Amino acid sequence: MIQSPFNVPPVTGAEFAYIQDVIESRSLSGDGKYTKLSQIWLEQKTGTKKALLTTSCTHALEMAAFLINIQPGDEVIMPSYTFTSTANAFVLRGAKIVFVDIRPDTMNIDENKIEAAITKRTKAIVPVHYAGVSCEMDTIMDIAHRYQLYVIEDAAQGLMGTYKGRMLGTIGHIGTYSFHETKNFVSGEGGALLINDERFIERAEIIREKGTDRSQFFRGQVDKYCWQDIGSSYLPSELNAAYLYAQLEQTELILESRLSLWNEYYTHLQSLEEHHLIDLPVIPNNCQHNGHIFYIKVKNGDIRTSLINYLKAQGIQSMFHFVPLHSSPAGKRYTTFHGEDIYTTVESERLLRLPLYFDLSTVEVIVLAIKGYFMNMLEKRVLEL
Ligand SMILES: *Cc1c(COP(=O)(O)O)cnc(C)c1O
Repeated sequence: MIQSPFNVPPVTGAEFAYIQDVIESRSLSGDGKYTKLSQIWLEQKTGTKKALLTTSCTHALEMAAFLINIQPGDEVIMPSYTFTSTANAFVLRGAKIVFVDIRPDTMNIDENKIEAAITKRTKAIVPVHYAGVSCEMDTIMDIAHRYQLYVIEDAAQGLMGTYKGRMLGTIGHIGTYSFHETKNFVSGEGGALLINDERFIERAEIIREKGTDRSQFFRGQVDKYCWQDIGSSYLPSELNAAYLYAQLEQTELILESRLSLWNEYYTHLQSLEEHHLIDLPVIPNNCQHNGHIFYIKVKNGDIRTSLINYLKAQGIQSMFHFVPLHSSPAGKRYTTFHGEDIYTTVESERLLRLPLYFDLSTVEVIVLAIKGYFMNMLEKRVLEL
């Protein structure tokens, strides 16, 4: 049986040589050659004012919460359909998370529901670009300016996606990327903080380096370094940065492959959508996505479970995604849902992600299996008549 795993992290070739180079340099800690190369690459490619590699996107989000001075009782608005880290980073600083509903077409925060959730305590909005498809950023930035709120883009899945030609992660005050092995461009565990408002640059370097001005010391700007502020250890080892830089150099190759696989799924599954058996993802006109996730939506959670099992029996691994945070045990403690949950729960329960990775070669097999499932389902229905 042909096996189709859900994800396989990409290797494009130079990873081995770069890691060997780091080993031979006898210098493994952070902020060496490959960290610098990766940061310069990110700055040039995205146009952000400053990119800093971090140990994860989770840690980049934590740095963002430090940088905007989240205090106990502050409120942060975000979608409930996201990864735990989006909320945790702010809960760790004492914030209360306020969820608003998502849009059913993109699974992103509904920009029209944000304003009603703002109170005197609101400090920030955190849009999450699900599947590398942008949130409606013009509307979100306009609300933020009118209420003087910060916008932290959780672009964990968004590198190389754009909104009106602008790179995701560069539109808000701060943006974050993930290089976890399940994302498009990877380093095992890793992330980046994008600073688009230069007021944050100096303090970000200090927070990332255990609260010291060590970065300035290494640039020769101060003659000794010491404890300046609160902070933690958020810089990755050069071994991770070396793997990452090999990936960044090949982003176009990885992107092209993912987009063409995404388009292949889309084209071949359109007939099922025409017969109202599934819904396909929607990409708004202003957005160029990055082929991060290919999902289908079936009628309900029961059909999803039976389809997952059907595919599994044929060696195909498919996955549901985020369980809405407001329904989780920690979510009950640290969050509230503003307004009605019209789409968050219902849409998340019917979403199913299909295998999608750099060198996936079994899209045809997977499409045939999905069509086989629905043929069986329809046949059973006919027999029941
Ligand atoms: C993956 C992901 C994260 C966390 O990224 P890590 O690098 O694993 O910490 C945060 N937010 C979203 C939306 C993600 O998909």
